[in-house]
Amino acid sequence: MRPRPGKIISIGWNYRSHLTETEAQLPSEPVVFFKAPSCLIGDGEEIRIPKGMANVQHEVELALIFGKTGKDIHESEALSYISKVAVFNDITARDLQDQARKEGNPWAVSKSIDTFGPISKPVPIRKLENIQDLRMELTVNGKVRQTGRTSLMVFTIPKLVSYVSKFMTIEKGDIMITGTPEGVSEIVPGDVVCAKIDGVGSVTNRVV
Ligand code: MG
Repeated sequence: MRPRPGKIISIGWNYRSHLTETEAQLPSEPVVFFKAPSCLIGDGEEIRIPKGMANVQHEVELALIFGKTGKDIHESEALSYISKVAVFNDITARDLQDQARKEGNPWAVSKSIDTFGPISKPVPIRKLENIQDLRMELTVNGKVRQTGRTSLMVFTIPKLVSYVSKFMTIEKGDIMITGTPEGVSEIVPGDVVCAKIDGVGSVTNRVV
């Protein structure tokens, strides 16, 4: 069963390699945005690209699922707030996002289209030795498009949790997605996209 979060806190440009390919600057603080919880789908469900929309891209990310509510969380306590982790594919309507960025507007709709949030079955965080050193990979039709390691994040997981909780209460059940490494590319109807993280699992979705 897929989680039902109050919010999906999303972190942008958290891997140096992805900054370059999207012509973004290294952020001095974490870049935070949201995806609408209504975009979530599970393993095996279809990613539906709206008619006429071009340049929809995949982004493999580690998702954190919070097991308790907290505010002003200290970095040293951050991991104790996370109960589960999952693989997330932060599907993005890149042309819409780029247009919004260019005009200085929020890019919420580019991230929140229905079905643009595939998530794997969550696993308890205690099953993983070190969530800050996991290998991630994304394939399209069996061909590798993205590889990375969570050790390469610009801002570490404790830093992200602490930073966000300075501004807003992180509630039990909330999800945080932590950014994507390089290799984002367009997906089109007929493609089969598989995002995976070693020790966490995978989420596979056909594009229609
Ligand atoms: Mg992303």
